[in-house]
Amino acid sequence: MKISRRAGSISGSATLEVLKAASAMRARGVDVVDLGAGEPDFPTPEFVKEAAVGAIRANFTKYTDAVGTSELRYAIAERYKSAWNAPYTAGQVVVTAGGKQALHAACLALFEEGDDVLIPSPYWVSFPEMVKLAGADPVFVPTDASRGFKLTAKDVEKAFTPRTRGVIVNTPNNPTGAVIEPAEVEAIIRLSAARGVTVLFDECYDRFVFEGRHLSAAALASEFPETILVAGTLSKTYSMTGWRIGFAIGPQRLIDVIGRLVSHSTSNVCSITQKAGLEALTHPDESESAVHEMLSEYRRRREFLIPALNALPGVRCAAPGGAFYAFPDVSSHYGGRAGGVVLSDSNGFAAHLLKEAAVAVTPGAAFGEDRCIRISFATSLERLREGVERMKAALSRIA
Ligand code: PMP
Repeated sequence: MKISRRAGSISGSATLEVLKAASAMRARGVDVVDLGAGEPDFPTPEFVKEAAVGAIRANFTKYTDAVGTSELRYAIAERYKSAWNAPYTAGQVVVTAGGKQALHAACLALFEEGDDVLIPSPYWVSFPEMVKLAGADPVFVPTDASRGFKLTAKDVEKAFTPRTRGVIVNTPNNPTGAVIEPAEVEAIIRLSAARGVTVLFDECYDRFVFEGRHLSAAALASEFPETILVAGTLSKTYSMTGWRIGFAIGPQRLIDVIGRLVSHSTSNVCSITQKAGLEALTHPDESESAVHEMLSEYRRRREFLIPALNALPGVRCAAPGGAFYAFPDVSSHYGGRAGGVVLSDSNGFAAHLLKEAAVAVTPGAAFGEDRCIRISFATSLERLREGVERMKAALSRIA
C-alpha cells in the first residue's frame, strides 16, 4: 500500500504522546492532574441540551442543507451584524463541524502548490498541517515573548513575499492567550488587502478575554469585503466541543466554494446539533449568562495561576489576555538532570512532570515554541492548586 505524499506529510498530534502516557497512568489508578485539556470543563447549558432533545423528539433527524439550516445561518449573520456591524447575509455563512472544518475548508479553497501562508508562532497545532494538506507551504512568523506573544502588523509585513497568499490570525491565541491589539488587527488587514492576501481570522476564543479588547476582523468587512474570512465556533463559547459546530463567514465567492467542499465531504453538521446551536444563538439572556459564568471562573483561576507559576523557581509566565491557557517559559531548567536523564526540551520537561508529579501538560514544541509548556486552566481551581504544588516538588528534583 502506498500512502500519498500529501497525506503522508501530515504529522499526528504532537501533543498525543503525553496524553497517551497520562491516560495509561490513569488506567493504572494514578491520580493525574490533567492540565492538558483544550476544552471547557463546564457542562453545555441546560436550555441548549433541551433544544437538542426537542429536535430528536420532533424528528428533526434528517439531512439539512449541506451548508446548514437557513435559520441558523441567519442567526450567525445577525450575531455578526449586531456585535460588529458586519454586512454579512445568511448566504455568506457556512455551518461547519467546528471552527476546525471552517479553517480546513478555507485552506483548501484558497491555497495550492507554490503558495506561502503566514502562520504566526506559537500557533495552534492544526494550522501548519491544514496548509500542507492544501499543498501550500507554511511560513512561520515568530512573535515576541517579551511582548506577551502579541502579533503586530510589523511582524506580518516583514514576512510577506510575492508568494504569500494568506495569513492565519488567531486571537485570542491558543496556546499563548495573547489578544492582538485592535489597532494591529486593523493594520494587518490593511496590509493584507493591499497585497491581495487573504486573512483567515480564527476567533474561536473571542468571548474569553480578561485583559485588553478583542477586535473581530468582521468589524472591517465593510471596508475590506474580499480580504477577510472569519472562522468561529460554539465549542468554547457555549461549552459544546463534542457537538461539533462552528462556522465560516466571509466573501460570497469564497463561501460558495467552502460550501461545495463541505457538501462533498461531510455534508451538513448534525441536524440535532444545529437546533441546539440555534437555541444558544437566539436566546441571548440565557447564553450570555452562561458565558459570563464561565468567564468569571476562568478569571478567578487565572488570578491564582499566573502568580503561582511565576513564583516557581526558573519559571516565567506572561499573563494571558484571553482564552484559557498559560504558556510559561520553563527553559531555564533545560540541561538539568532528573531521574538519571537530562531534560533537554519541552517534551522531556513535560515527561518529567508526568512521571515525577503525575501532572499532564502540553509541550510547547507542539506549538512551535520549545522553551514553553502549555497549561490549561479549563480545570477546577482546586486541581490547579494541586497541580502547582506538585510541579513545585518536581522542579525541586531537577539538579
Ligand atoms: N482554533 C483554535 C485556535 C483552537 O484552539 C481550536 C480548538 N482547539 C479550534 C480552532 C477549533 O475548535 P472546534 O473545531 O472545536 O471549533
